[in-house]
Amino acid sequence: MILSGIPVRDSLKKALVVDFASLPRIPELAIIQIGDNPASTVYINQKVLFGAALGVPVRHIILEENSTEKEIKKVIHECNNNSRIGGIIIQLPLPTISNHVVFIRGLLDCILPEKDVDGLGTDAGGLLLRQSTDVCLPATARGIMSLFEYYKIDLSGKHVVVVGRSDLVGKPVALMALAHNATVTVCHSYTDGLREITRSADILIVAVGKPRYIDASYVKEGQVVIDVGIHRIDGKICGDVDFETVEPIVYHITPVPGGVGPLTVVSLFQNLLDIAKRQV
Ligand code: NAP
Repeated sequence: MILSGIPVRDSLKKALVVDFASLPRIPELAIIQIGDNPASTVYINQKVLFGAALGVPVRHIILEENSTEKEIKKVIHECNNNSRIGGIIIQLPLPTISNHVVFIRGLLDCILPEKDVDGLGTDAGGLLLRQSTDVCLPATARGIMSLFEYYKIDLSGKHVVVVGRSDLVGKPVALMALAHNATVTVCHSYTDGLREITRSADILIVAVGKPRYIDASYVKEGQVVIDVGIHRIDGKICGDVDFETVEPIVYHITPVPGGVGPLTVVSLFQNLLDIAKRQV
């Protein structure tokens, strides 16, 4: 069976329209873009349109690529102090500069934890580790969990293998699977015997960031395969999984496009709604 994200997104979107309309005050979402990465602009436009469909205003703030840390933090503080803004996003990736990781971490941690709608700040990471419900879950990982819920795929007692350990996808999805009582293995670029491990999975979540990397030799019958990857090659979109060769073997698989992708934006607005509800 193909696990399409479209019906999942549509049913969650319907609920969000009602839930946002019932709030005493609809919060704004602020998205801070540094530079003009065209892929980022596409993703931001998707968020703006989705917000419009829900009646949620999205403020798109664009800063020069060569903005200093001080200038960017000033804008973050302004958003922190603006009571109309419920959630703040720093659109990633950022332009590459020296000391990149420290720079990004500094900006993410400048967002007030209660407005950290992407759940990428240090506080949110700690709360996720504690399985707190008082935190925004990183949107893609939350979207994958919504997919499991919609298609009634129970993680309890299952061996979930996650390929990738990024803060954005791999780590949070591994922690969420653990919270759902899965037995979790996390693989990365130093993992030995990746094929053996992926073939031992009941549920394989692939966030490796390499087009069609997981082919038929990494899977076996009966598995559920979730492909997080998105790549545009020669005008066509593909995932981290080689869908053509893997789909005939496994039990369930997400397509790309139309699988996990549509769920990331909806999860972001679920996070914004959760923030607003915590403040009521
Ligand atoms: P990332 O930050 O590049 O992380 C990739 C991970 O894969 C790293 O942990 C890396 O290991 C691991 N890896 C790389 N090569 C490997 C190999 N040969 N064997 C095993 N592990 C390997 O990527 P990301 O941000 O997590 O994103 C992953 C994919 O999801 C990308 O294609 C991205 O475009 C897509 N994505 C989609 C959505 C969506 O809405 N659908 C959202 C976010 C991201 P090390 O840690 O050792 O380097």
